[in-house]
Amino acid sequence: MVLMTIKPRFALLTAAVVASALTGCAPGTATGTTEQPNAVTVTVAAYPLQFLAERIVGDAGVVTNLTAPGTEPHDLELTARQIAAMAATDAVVYIPGFQAAVDDAIASTPPKLAIDVTSGLSLLKASQDGAEEGADAGSSYDPHIWLSPANMVTMAHTISTALSTEKPQLAGTFDANTKALVADLTALGDSYRTGLASCQRTQFITSHAAFGYLARDYGLQQIPIAGLDPTQEPTAARIAAVHQLARQYGVTTIFFETLVSDTVAKSIAGDLGLKTAVLDPIEGITPSSAGTDYLEVMRSNLTALEAANGCS
Ligand SMILES: [Zn+2]
Repeated sequence: MVLMTIKPRFALLTAAVVASALTGCAPGTATGTTEQPNAVTVTVAAYPLQFLAERIVGDAGVVTNLTAPGTEPHDLELTARQIAAMAATDAVVYIPGFQAAVDDAIASTPPKLAIDVTSGLSLLKASQDGAEEGADAGSSYDPHIWLSPANMVTMAHTISTALSTEKPQLAGTFDANTKALVADLTALGDSYRTGLASCQRTQFITSHAAFGYLARDYGLQQIPIAGLDPTQEPTAARIAAVHQLARQYGVTTIFFETLVSDTVAKSIAGDLGLKTAVLDPIEGITPSSAGTDYLEVMRSNLTALEAANGCS
């Protein structure tokens, strides 16, 4: 008798969930969230946001990254299915102006909660970090906010506060997880401050202009070969300028990345007789990354910068 009453209700709920998923219904329809008050679903636009969201959510939900592992996030494209799935989750975490496809999806199919992680940050203008003109027309500021541990602390609080408003019953969990995360990020920032305090030079040459915030926070000067968007080829004039700056500052190392071509960086290093090493903008984690998460790769980046710049 009991089974008879439960089964039809379960079947109805399942049908509603399937119908909602198929049609991409607006929030407010039966999505099963009322049946699972202790779970949260979060969609993130790129890896650094996945790292933050997973640490904050912990075991209390599921985090989905729109950028597939090992792919470069700047030129992300989204399928209709991804956009519908994104709008059905409890929250979307993104960086406005970083990925046009995500901005467009949020505008056309507004999610329940869109968390803009640039909130409360002091943003660098697109031209302030040595990036060339012609940076992505969609962004007037440098979107690589995650390469500053201090920014990551602010971003963690922004995400945690927003999720707690959406899921008050999980606020205690988010708060505890965020405290542990902030402790790790603060320790990382302290390592950078100590490690880069006394160096023979402050200039470093990167593949694309991803390290503006890191340079700002620790008194370094980034010399990017390409601009803010790694898919844009540097001009011959820019490569000549990088040659000249490398000689002028006595740079020892040309840095390249894991997710974009290293041809230009290796060619410049070859011309000047310099070393090459990886300085990872952490736009994605792959098996060839120098670490399994944001914290580990950031520590590898610090080691690489210390070696290149003669820090003691
Ligand atoms: Zn980038």
